[in-house]
Amino acid sequence: MADDGSARLAIDGGRPVRTEYLIFGKPDIREEEIREVEATIRSGWLGTGPRVAAFEKAFCEYVGSRYAMALNSCTAGLHLSMIAIGVKPGDEVITCPMTFASTANVITHLGATPVFADCDRETLCIDAERASEKMTQRTRALLPVHFAGRTADMTALQALARDRKLRIVEDAAHAIEAAHQGRKIGSISDCTVFSFYVTKNVITGEGGMVSTDDPQIADWIKVAGLHGLSRDAWKRYSDEGFRHYEVTFPGFKYNMTDMQAALGIHQLARVEANLKRRDEIWRRYTEGLSDLPLRIPPEPAQGDRHARHLFIILLDLDQLRISRDQVLQALHAEGIGTGVHYRALHLHPYYRERYGYGEGDFPNAEWVGERTLSLPLSPGLSNRDVEDVILAVRKVLCSALV
Ligand SMILES: *Cc1c(COP(=O)(O)O)cnc(C)c1O
Repeated sequence: MADDGSARLAIDGGRPVRTEYLIFGKPDIREEEIREVEATIRSGWLGTGPRVAAFEKAFCEYVGSRYAMALNSCTAGLHLSMIAIGVKPGDEVITCPMTFASTANVITHLGATPVFADCDRETLCIDAERASEKMTQRTRALLPVHFAGRTADMTALQALARDRKLRIVEDAAHAIEAAHQGRKIGSISDCTVFSFYVTKNVITGEGGMVSTDDPQIADWIKVAGLHGLSRDAWKRYSDEGFRHYEVTFPGFKYNMTDMQAALGIHQLARVEANLKRRDEIWRRYTEGLSDLPLRIPPEPAQGDRHARHLFIILLDLDQLRISRDQVLQALHAEGIGTGVHYRALHLHPYYRERYGYGEGDFPNAEWVGERTLSLPLSPGLSNRDVEDVILAVRKVLCSALV
């Protein structure tokens, strides 16, 4: 460890590991995406159209669901899924505080209550046993998150749901490629919701998708995502001739556009190749960092497939003189961008004030939230980039040993 521990940190005026900043979550965009976007613009069909339909079809095939509905975000998909499975004001939905805000925000949008159940310290996913302790007469649904690309224990959660006649919506924003016990994520629950936000594994700039096998849910989400207009109203100005639409209920403006789908079609075609590249980077990080005062979440159970979305390190703060935020700042000065996924959601002001959550309520999520740091993991990283990240993390942590 001594080799790089002696160099002066950039944050203290030393030479940074990189002069060209490595941003976290750099998107991997290739010529084929650029050409497809250009063709979309030239076609004049910028809104929801044939490219969205093609992307939905390819996505269904990839995840093995009967239906897939493209939307303008995962958040929109979570919102519509909650309505589609019948969540109503006063209901409770059990989810995990170790997640992005929108997972729980959508529950509050319906006047329902997000009931948090702590995560497991190893998997960082919801602990099914704790979830079962949170059940009441009002519990309507479970909303697990496949954290960092590792699947939540769907076997246990499905057993819980079956016993109590609950619905399940999966937040699979991190988990497009994942599988649980040989079953592809996207083909398991009532609804599974994916994100194509710029830092995710498949990107469309902004975008999301809901997959389901239920024709009624599929139909409803399709209509609800476009103002509640009668089916296929997006074709109303096409060469099939003008047609009247009917408003069947007041829906939302959540549709995906062909501009976005143009990116998605080619991104999805490379999804497995990109996973393979991230898998290589993952193994190199594991090798290069394993002797440092940090913990890397363990490999998934046999039969599960990890989507390798976030490479997370959990700092051993007892062995370091500096906090996670100071490590983050020091890495920034070395030219390395990182992410924090996440500070525990129940500690954010809205959740404290509205639901009375506070410190100590979910010790595992809080423990993770204080020491977690995500390293760059884009398939577009060069081997040199990866070595720079390892060098910078080693340099910063070795200089901060107690
Ligand atoms: C990114 C993300 C979302 C939201 O996705 P958008 O497409 O930005 O709406 C939801 N949940 C998790 C866990 C996420 O990481």
